[in-house]
Amino acid sequence: MTIIDGKKISAEILDEIALEVANMKSAGSKVPHLAAVLVGNDGASETYVAAKVKACDKVGFKSTLIRLKSDTTEKELLETVDKLNKDKDIDGFIVQLPLPRHISDQKIIESIAPQKDVDGFHPSNVGRMALNLPTYLPATPFGILKLLERYKIETAGKHCVVVGRSNIVGSPISILLARNSYPGNCTVTLTHSKTKNIAEITRTADILVVALGKPGFVTGTMVKEGAVVIDVGITRMPSSQTKSGYKLFGDVNYEEVAPKCSFITPVPGGVGPMTIVSLLTNTLKACKKEIYS
Ligand code: NAP
Repeated sequence: MTIIDGKKISAEILDEIALEVANMKSAGSKVPHLAAVLVGNDGASETYVAAKVKACDKVGFKSTLIRLKSDTTEKELLETVDKLNKDKDIDGFIVQLPLPRHISDQKIIESIAPQKDVDGFHPSNVGRMALNLPTYLPATPFGILKLLERYKIETAGKHCVVVGRSNIVGSPISILLARNSYPGNCTVTLTHSKTKNIAEITRTADILVVALGKPGFVTGTMVKEGAVVIDVGITRMPSSQTKSGYKLFGDVNYEEVAPKCSFITPVPGGVGPMTIVSLLTNTLKACKKEIYS
């Protein structure tokens, strides 16, 4: 059994990006510039945005953080997005989700210029992904593809079962793994909360991607010998054993499942560290005008 080391792979990719940025700088080219908009002061969102800004610094990107008060209106946020769409120095930007309840996430996503939508959530980019056209892939599925690729995991002809059909993980990874490319060419079954006899289905998976947000949901009896298991779940639970007072749990019962697997991602340290790397890769592509010229 091989443990897929997301920390190691993400560090390798960050080094590759940093090298490319250094080369861009020495060639006198503009360096990638990522902006992030944070509305309100939700603790988790603050942490995610701070990590994104820090990662930009690490690879030599320029970054801009725009903080807006929690009572910002939808109209004001749309105006901010419009300014960022028009700002020639900014290659890509994200609006950290979720937004306060009085603002429609979807309306904001659709207001972002697809060329600058480095989160890959705009319907145009989702459509391009489904059509296998060049696009910004959403961060978590993109990270999963990178892990499969870097570990040279065979995907063609495999049966992939995805648990969870969210717009940010389950649905896009099911589309990506069914595409005619590598990683891809899987026969994909997408399962969700209305799926009957889910254990019977997961037991047939050569590759099992689990993203539902229920700690330890996938037990040993739900996985076949030799399966590749990608655990996307991250649930923070109080713990007296850690300094921070909490511990992170995946959707897979690691102790039961790991011994049966050929490959498995741990939580933490598996899929999680890949998310920011994907965002930076997309921003680099935006700066180099690789997707939209
Ligand atoms: P989400 O939007 O909450 O969606 C959960 C999905 O799981 C839904 O499609 C739901 O089905 C399905 N589901 C719920 N109970 C189920 C059950 N008993 N059997 C089968 N399917 C069930 O989830 P998400 O945003 O994708 O997040 C999932 C997990 O991944 C969370 O723990 C989240 O924190 C984590 N996550 C991690 C990363 C990372 O970087 N590692 C990134 C994003 C998310 P219905 O559609 O029928 O309701």
